[in-house]
Amino acid sequence: MINVAILGSTGSIGTSTLDVIARQSEQFNAFALTANTNVDRLYEQCLQFLPEIAVMVDINSANELQQRLKTQASTRHIHVLSGIKALDEVAEHDQIDYVMAAIVGAAGLDSSLAAAKSGKRILLANKESLVMSGDLFIQTVKDNGATLLPIDSEHNAIFQSMPARQTDVNTKNKNIEKLQVSGVEKILLTASGGPFLNKTLEELHNVTPDQACAHPNWVMGRKISVDSATMMNKGLEVIEASWLFNATADDIQVVIHPQSIIHSMVSYSDGSVLAQLGNPDMRTPIAHAMAWPERMASGVAQLDIFKIAQLDFEAPDFTRFVCLKLAYDTLRCGGTAPAILNAANEIAVAAFLKGQISFTRISNVVEETLNQLNSQTADSLEIIMAADAGARTLATQLCSKL
Ligand code: NAD
Ligand code: MG
Repeated sequence: MINVAILGSTGSIGTSTLDVIARQSEQFNAFALTANTNVDRLYEQCLQFLPEIAVMVDINSANELQQRLKTQASTRHIHVLSGIKALDEVAEHDQIDYVMAAIVGAAGLDSSLAAAKSGKRILLANKESLVMSGDLFIQTVKDNGATLLPIDSEHNAIFQSMPARQTDVNTKNKNIEKLQVSGVEKILLTASGGPFLNKTLEELHNVTPDQACAHPNWVMGRKISVDSATMMNKGLEVIEASWLFNATADDIQVVIHPQSIIHSMVSYSDGSVLAQLGNPDMRTPIAHAMAWPERMASGVAQLDIFKIAQLDFEAPDFTRFVCLKLAYDTLRCGGTAPAILNAANEIAVAAFLKGQISFTRISNVVEETLNQLNSQTADSLEIIMAADAGARTLATQLCSKL
């Protein structure tokens, strides 16, 4: 039996992971579940999956969950923990084999790193942790013999289309070669373009949070949904891909593909292009990473190739989707620039979701924050966290200015 910890079990990725586990309960056990404040959902999950440990970061939520679990004989054994440190405890727990890192935002960094330090198989959905601390993260994975498998659908597709030697980060101290050594010319990172692909800049100004969160192909949490609408999500994914596959900014071409059937491609020097296709459902990459190197059923319907009338491709427009350009700029700059980008974006997205700033102001806030703060060498977690904190303070000020 493989014991899995799901960090962020009440979210979109967390729920999909539990759906896969429920279908594969002979192989996988949900050993630990964690959430921030959603007591109702975590309680339901505890009733169904009977984990050993349940974490609620918020102390009041943890107390409430504890009381509810005590009323049922089947759930009385569950240890309820609270606080941020409990996430690290779970990620490092001796009895845990796999850690699904599915917390949203910088809040997921510490526990993802804790999983890497204790040599776990990390199923990485939390792209923000790689964006903030890519160098440190990959080094920690290597030093501790952890296994890093991407859950983000594009990166999972690239992983499946890459030669094994390009994805083998788990081998101790092994340095991955440049892509070209494996005959790879380019990574073609697909993007749906989000709900506003064809809107003009003027139209973008007045869009609402609910419009931004209504993604045409995927059902996701609100933060990543807004990131998809600004295309910051694709920008973060470019940075994520650079760390996972040892690629430079020039090695990664973003391709708009509105149908989200091809999840990404790898182009080779002999003219071959390998792609991974499937219905847009996160249970496919989740099941892939859990079963790897084997395969198992995920509950996702087989792709009906005859029903796909057409697959379209176009180049991204950096003038309407400024966030994508800013992310490329920070990747080229290196150091703490991606962490500053990520932190400013988290603040700006939260302000947009609360109705404090307009949609187009998100990219302004990120750009102004990047202009005002200098990037430094990101060689320690302290430096990265200081850059994150500085960017949050400045972006918060910028959001309150009209
Ligand atoms: P979500 O908002 O649906 O869920 C977030 C989860 O994190 C919840 O369980 C919540 O309780 C927990 N959480 C939130 N803030 C927390 C905090 N401060 N401390 C501890 N826990 C906290 O998000 P999601 O859509 O599932 O996305 C999760 C991650 O996966 C993100 O990094 C996202 O970019 C990535 N991802 C998501 C999808 C998708 O289809 N949803 C696809 C690719 C990548
Ligand atoms: Mg993605």
